[in-house]
Amino acid sequence: AVKRAGRRRLRRYHPEQDALTERSQLLAGELGGALHRQELTLVFQPVYRLADHRIVKAEALLRWTHPTLGRVSPAEFIPVAERSGLITPIGTWVLNEACRAALAWPDLTISVNVSAVQLLQFEFRSTVQAALTGSGLPPARLELELTETAALYEDARTARALHELREMGVQISIDDFGSGYSNLMRLRTLPITGVKLDRSITADLTDPAAAQFAQALTQAVTGIARNLGANVTAEGIETPAHLNAVRALRCQLGQGYGLALPMGAAALTDRLQQQPAQPAETPQPGRLIH
Ligand code: C2E
Ligand code: MG
Ligand code: MG
Ligand code: MG
Repeated sequence: AVKRAGRRRLRRYHPEQDALTERSQLLAGELGGALHRQELTLVFQPVYRLADHRIVKAEALLRWTHPTLGRVSPAEFIPVAERSGLITPIGTWVLNEACRAALAWPDLTISVNVSAVQLLQFEFRSTVQAALTGSGLPPARLELELTETAALYEDARTARALHELREMGVQISIDDFGSGYSNLMRLRTLPITGVKLDRSITADLTDPAAAQFAQALTQAVTGIARNLGANVTAEGIETPAHLNAVRALRCQLGQGYGLALPMGAAALTDRLQQQPAQPAETPQPGRLIH
């Protein structure tokens, strides 16, 4: 009875909860057919090496355009896909599609977002291997981005899964570092090749009220990362002030609307062709292996 009263109270004071659930159910229902109806596509956001402003990576980002719902953000439908199990076929499609697309950009690393649900599945390793073998992409040119969540960190299988992937030769980055469950110790214990600083940190760097802490955090992360042979990407670079701040703090890589928006594959190919030819002796810090 207490539970029932609680539920009724919830309903009275938070009617938007029902709408949320309804929307999730609608999305879950529609997402099932989205792959077959070819409503999912990938866009690619360039990642720049800040030392010479060259594109060294591209992050594959999923887009869903539904015939009546229009564009649905991955921030909204990825959690739905994770809960419904659809993340498995969708994630496999993303991996295959991203590896295939990357063949057009021989100098780039392709970064693919992977959810903790996928990583902890028994068959994930063979899914990654199949995407590499099927496309012929060298493993070192694939980077898996993992958003740190409690689920990821608290599961004992995580370290093992990551070590197996590293042994295959793929790169592994922690995404959105500084946004939630950040744990500097994990950088030492997990086989990480990169850290992506959450865009809230980049924003804080130019906010007088928050800059001091954000600078200290960024310095700690870049210091530890350098020590481990991992690279640091600043996310969410929107303004010249952001760019200057993350450069001064020795982040090697940068990504954000101020550098380049996510774009289709053909647009990225054009963008790369506009870059001046690369001097042969330029080092490739985007490919650090440790
Ligand atoms: P993420 O992996 O951290 O990707 C970066 C997100 O920030 C992208 O949003 C990108 O468009 C956006 N972004 C880039 N630069 C800027 C900037 O300067 N300012 C701001 N405000 N935003 C910027 P998007 O594409 O909406 O993706 C949101 C999240 O959805 C991703 O965050 C990632 O966690 C997830 N996601 C996207 N594609 C996939 C996928 O294929 N698989 C999985 N599991 N998750 C995905
Ligand atoms: Mg990412
Ligand atoms: Mg993320
Ligand atoms: Mg991120």
